[in-house]
Amino acid sequence: MFDKVLIANRGEIALRILRACRELGIATVAVHSTADENAMHVRLADESVCIGPPSASQSYLNIPAILAACEITGADAVHPGYGFLSENARFADILAEHNIAFIGPSAEHIRLMGDKIEAKRTAAGLGIPVVPGSEGAIDDNDEARRIAAEIGYPVLVKAAAGGGGRGMKVAYSQDEIEGVLQHCRNEAGAAFGDDAVYIEKYLAKPRHIEIQVLGDGQGNAVHLGERDCSLQRRHQKLWEEALSPALNDEARREIGTRVANAVAELGYSGAGTVEFLYENGQFYFIEMNTRLQVEHPVTEMITGLDLVQEQIRIAAGSQLGYGQEDITFDGHAIECRINAENAFTFAPSPGRIEELHPPGGLGVRVDSGLYSGYSVPPYYDSLIAKLIVFGKTRNECLMRLRRALGEYVIEGVQTTIPLFNDLLAEPDIIDGHYDIHWLENYLDRRR
Ligand code: ADP
Repeated sequence: MFDKVLIANRGEIALRILRACRELGIATVAVHSTADENAMHVRLADESVCIGPPSASQSYLNIPAILAACEITGADAVHPGYGFLSENARFADILAEHNIAFIGPSAEHIRLMGDKIEAKRTAAGLGIPVVPGSEGAIDDNDEARRIAAEIGYPVLVKAAAGGGGRGMKVAYSQDEIEGVLQHCRNEAGAAFGDDAVYIEKYLAKPRHIEIQVLGDGQGNAVHLGERDCSLQRRHQKLWEEALSPALNDEARREIGTRVANAVAELGYSGAGTVEFLYENGQFYFIEMNTRLQVEHPVTEMITGLDLVQEQIRIAAGSQLGYGQEDITFDGHAIECRINAENAFTFAPSPGRIEELHPPGGLGVRVDSGLYSGYSVPPYYDSLIAKLIVFGKTRNECLMRLRRALGEYVIEGVQTTIPLFNDLLAEPDIIDGHYDIHWLENYLDRRR
């Protein structure tokens, strides 16, 4: 097992990783920008190192500074969390060259899945159904027009290197396709330094359903069921649940087994998420994320597994030690992303937390680095807390969520809590009847 883990992240996820390390008896190193010197995970870590100014490119993405922090503190492993360097294969390579473990999959698998075109090709080769679309990257406009006509409009143009919902745009007709291609190429080139794009059928009313997997790179892999992340705004998830209200046991077993087998065959090591769109009873692969996801706690609540501890054990060379038959799904869990932003305009709202009272009680979990008097800096992602609620049934979970949101006091910044309160009064949400466009349509109706 590792002696000392450096946490190359900030906010709630840094604290989440710190907790997992502490329970495993592993020492922790926090790294932070000058804007985060008073952050909770920095206060709680055994050691901390300032790695640069607020701008992420000079701190949380600054590989030489993070390496130096490893050297100074003698950390023997790095947990990258999500975002920042978590899917940077070069970072994983550099750590390996310095004999420091990267808590995540191999650089080779990060690279493979980081290119969505290659990822799709690999998934299809492993017997996983994919969204119909172009075979590979599209450079030629005539070819694009031909392929789009073949698939049928609307089509979605996506960047091979895309992420966070960027580099993606719908073309509704033959007249639009050229402009959309150019737009995506430009956006992808600027944001990701890679302007390769591809074309996919734009599905009309799918749900976003993703399968959590764990592999040990030694031939063993299990799936931990699915999460339904269909409630999105601008392709960004806001509410996630496990299990999905839309799947029955048979469908779950079928897709789960297929995915777990593929992951075992790949020799994948660590936690990963295979994302699908689900429409008319069919699954369509869109991408695989080779890291811990923001929404991982809902899976933890229904399986009883600590995903971060599993990641650490696997990275330290342990075998899984359990099989699919040992994994059971119990009850229902929902996560609400509490962002420091206006609940309806989503305008950012950084600032000082004047008053804080998080909810508690049976089945309520809050993952957050907030405390009274803390200042939410304006430089980073607006996620300040995750409220995760468990119930024996989905209905109990909804009742408890309503109760917990009612107790939550965060003063000083605006948050997304009022939105969740309103959503809990919507019949479609109560019944679990929503697709990936539901939230955008709802927000439009309210304007
Ligand atoms: P990113 O890596 O940027 O998050 P994804 O490929 O995971 O991009 O897609 C993000 C979201 O975009 C999905 O959850 C879904 O809402 C929407 N989306 C992606 N592909 C399609 C598609 N072919 N048809 C309709 N919606 C899509």
